[in-house]
Amino acid sequence: MPELVFFSGTMDCGKSTLALQIEHNRSARGLQGMIFTRDDRAGEGKLSSRLGLVTDAEEVADGQDLYAHLVDHLSRGGRADYVIADEAQFLAPEQIDQLARAVDDLGIDVYAFGITTDFRSKLFPGSQRLVELADRVEVLQVEALCWCGARATHNARTIRGEMVVEGAQVVVGDVNQSADEVGYEVLCRRHHRRRLTAATARAAALSPDVLPVSSTG
Ligand SMILES: [Zn+2]
Repeated sequence: MPELVFFSGTMDCGKSTLALQIEHNRSARGLQGMIFTRDDRAGEGKLSSRLGLVTDAEEVADGQDLYAHLVDHLSRGGRADYVIADEAQFLAPEQIDQLARAVDDLGIDVYAFGITTDFRSKLFPGSQRLVELADRVEVLQVEALCWCGARATHNARTIRGEMVVEGAQVVVGDVNQSADEVGYEVLCRRHHRRRLTAATARAAALSPDVLPVSSTG
């Protein structure tokens, strides 16, 4: 039975690496996939992982009908033995419905990869629809770690290293940000709730206010 599978997790949990691995394994067996992505860090029309692997993909547009796109591709004699949808949290709920329809009406396996919740710990609409519709949800736990060493379960947005909790749901940034840029960092829930990022924790540790006072000098 074809399936809609949602591989979900935080940033840095290895989603795109797994997407590339699935793509590699299937193309090595002579299968041909259609790969969708949106706003990948490597640029338009790319699916990349933090480990440096990259493959070509189709950039999904706002309002694009993914089911119609697949039908069109097949009717022109193209092949699509399976579908990979990376950065699926950025897809609209209707586009997730279209992927579910591709599973049911075209008999194609669809593997969607996405971040579950945003920097305010709210579900992305695309991820919510995937949780609602998927045959299977696989939560990836590839040891994404908070700066404190605990398992990172939450995504934080940072500006100059400080965690922010307001702003648009989607601002594409990078983890290797320079000053003033929007960045992202994974944290454990405790430090997400306290808004304590690696940078603010380091600053607090270096602050004279919190250095232990020694009476003996
Ligand atoms: Zn922590």
